[in-house]
Amino acid sequence: MIRFEQVGKVYPDGTSAVDGLTFEVGRGELVTLVGPSGCGKTTTMMMVNRLIEPTSGRILVDGEDISTIDPVRLRRRIGYVIQQVGLFPHRTVLDNTATVPALVGWKRGRARRRAEELLDLVGLDPKTYGPRYPAQLSGGQRQRVGVARALAADPPVLLMDEPFAAVDPVARERLQNEFLTLQSTVRKTVLLVTHDIEEAVRMGDRIAVYGKGRIEQYDRPGAVLGTP
Ligand code: ADP
Ligand code: ADP
Repeated sequence: MIRFEQVGKVYPDGTSAVDGLTFEVGRGELVTLVGPSGCGKTTTMMMVNRLIEPTSGRILVDGEDISTIDPVRLRRRIGYVIQQVGLFPHRTVLDNTATVPALVGWKRGRARRRAEELLDLVGLDPKTYGPRYPAQLSGGQRQRVGVARALAADPPVLLMDEPFAAVDPVARERLQNEFLTLQSTVRKTVLLVTHDIEEAVRMGDRIAVYGKGRIEQYDRPGAVLGTP
C-alpha cells in the first residue's frame, strides 16, 4: 500500500533528516513510528502527502510513484491528523467536520449528514456537539473532531502526528482505545508518529523504531520488546 524505497531527505540548509528509508506498510495496517525528538519521524510522514519532497529515493502509494500524482489529488486520498488540531475557531464543530466533503463538491445536505455520521463515529453526539465552537470543547474532544475531519473524505490512508500528545494521560489512554476500536471497523492504512514507546506498542500492528535519521528496527510489538 505504502512503500518507501531508499528514501532520503536533506533540507536546503544541509540537515540530513532521514537516509535510506526502505519499508512497506500493508493495506489496513497501523504502523507506529517511534523514537526521540529530531530523528526524522515527522519528515517521513510529511513526505507521504508531499508536504515535503524527498531528495532521494521514491515513495509508492498503491504501486504509484507519488511524485507523479498531483499533490491536491494525493491529499484527497490521505487524511492528516496533527497534535494541535487546527480547527477553524469561528466555525462550528459540524461545519469544521463538513469542510472536506464541501471542498470536494458534495451538496450541503449530504456534507452535513456525512459530518453527523462522522461525529457519531468518534463518540461525539452530533446534536450536542455539532453546534458548538472548538473553544467550547475539551482537548480530547477537539482531537476527536480532528479525527472525524480527517476521515471525512474516506481516504484509504491516514497520517497521524502525535495525535494524543496534547491530552492528559487518562484521556490519552481512552482516546487510544477508542481509535483502535474505530480502526477495527474502518481499517485505514495508518502511519502514527509518537515518542511514547508504550503508545507505539499498544497501537501498532508493526513498529518502526527510529534512531538518528534511520529505522533501526521494523517489526511486530512482541519482537520489538524482545519477547518471543
Ligand atoms: P521528529 O519528527 O522525529 O522529531 P523531524 O522529522 O521533525 O524529526 O526532524 C528531523 C531532523 O530534520 C531534525 O534534525 C530537524 O532539526 C531537521 N529539520 C526538520 N525540519 C527542517 C527544516 N525545515 N529545515 C531544516 N532542518 C529541518
Ligand atoms: P476529555 O477527557 O475528552 O478531554 P475533559 O475531561 O477535558 O474531556 O472534559 C470533560 C467535560 O467538560 C466535557 O464533556 C466537555 O464538554 C466539558 N468541557 C471541557 N472544557 C470545556 C470548555 N472550555 N467549555 C465547555 N465545556 C468544556
